[in-house]
Amino acid sequence: MTARRQPRPRPAAGPGWFDEGYRHIWMPYEQMQTAPRPEAVTATHGTRIVLSDGRELIDGVASWWSACHGYNHPHIVGAIRRQLEVMPHVMLGGLANEPAFTLARRLAGLAPGSLNRVFFSESGSVAVEVAMKMVVQYWRNLGQPKRRKFVCFDGAYHGDTIGAMAVGDPEGGVHGAVADLMESQFRLALPRDDKTLADFRAFVGVHAHECAAIIVEPLVQGAGGMLFHTVETLRAVGDAAAAHGLLLILDEIMTGLGRLGSLFACQQAGVAPDIMTLSKSLTGGTLPLAATIATAQVFGAFLSDDPDRALMHGPTFAGNALACAAANASLDLFEREPRLEQVRAIEKKLSAGLEPCRGMAGVVDVRVKGAVGVVELDRIDDLAALRARFVAEGCWIRPFANVVYLMPAFTIADADLARLTETVVKVAGERAERRPKRREA
Ligand code: PMP
Repeated sequence: MTARRQPRPRPAAGPGWFDEGYRHIWMPYEQMQTAPRPEAVTATHGTRIVLSDGRELIDGVASWWSACHGYNHPHIVGAIRRQLEVMPHVMLGGLANEPAFTLARRLAGLAPGSLNRVFFSESGSVAVEVAMKMVVQYWRNLGQPKRRKFVCFDGAYHGDTIGAMAVGDPEGGVHGAVADLMESQFRLALPRDDKTLADFRAFVGVHAHECAAIIVEPLVQGAGGMLFHTVETLRAVGDAAAAHGLLLILDEIMTGLGRLGSLFACQQAGVAPDIMTLSKSLTGGTLPLAATIATAQVFGAFLSDDPDRALMHGPTFAGNALACAAANASLDLFEREPRLEQVRAIEKKLSAGLEPCRGMAGVVDVRVKGAVGVVELDRIDDLAALRARFVAEGCWIRPFANVVYLMPAFTIADADLARLTETVVKVAGERAERRPKRREA
């Protein structure tokens, strides 16, 4: 069989701002010498990305999983616009703004268990840093400063800042170059079977006195490879934390706010954390905002006459009024519109739509949870060409490592979702065909 030619990545058409700017911008996660030029985007609407040459891509990524209501939702746009006229931003140090205070109250009302104190920052990584600072200082304030290590897991990703990287899995290859900056933490296999469960329990039992917290992404580990685990695994993690008095941090930055079919992933397992981090979908993907939400118990350990016991963290844009207005509008949509039902419907369609990939040459696994659909390949050697292939098909699908995944907006139309899954099946099929056939024995 002759190998089919891969379409070359198309150079972006290059509107005026592009070429000059491209000489000066440093793009994220990119080897700038070899990376294909990015697609120039001039507009978004619904689940579509409009390119400068007029093409429209169906979006399967929702801008790194944040645009859960689709782009430019009028309710969020209107809320931002109204807030912009009145007060885009005012510092949160010593000053209160209504959108931030309202959002804190609403998040405390929605958050599972007894989470009820909300600390605002502006990105997921920082929300994780704040959570880590909270727990280390929690133990210090309680007179146990030796409890400062974190138990974290293979396959984890919690962000790109120094502390967050240290509790992530360097195997993902994202953080290896700066490994020297990170304090080593206790990274274990997730307890998925009897052996890993026994090892995990034994480790936590022995090391609890030096551990501050366990940190985990509940049910789906995202950027580490879209790896799923069961509610039993999550419960085992929660039980171990409770048994040994460790705090439990659930990083719901990706899973939270509906992505897995419940408002928070941990609710499916009935596990309530001491601290939870949120970002991404918090503003419906419109403005940067993150929250680190703690229980009254954690918060209580910071209350004192002693100023040194306070949490010393305060980003310039903490509680940004525009972002909080957007987040309040996003929560309105979760209240008013059937988002969780939509996710459950997407789950069925992703399962059915991606199923034909199972058994194709080079496909290791097909898995779906909520609005996360994954086709895991044995390897992807030509990431740039594969991404370009999807663009050529009119879809924005951005595989990484060895996974092709779909995480669309919850509002995606059936026809668009079908186009996304059909395209993944088509492209996976092309790759399977191109693989050298094994000789019959
Ligand atoms: N935690 C998880 C689970 C994430 O998926 C991400 C982002 N991919 C982060 C933390 C970091 O968030 P941010 O990119 O906003 O810093």
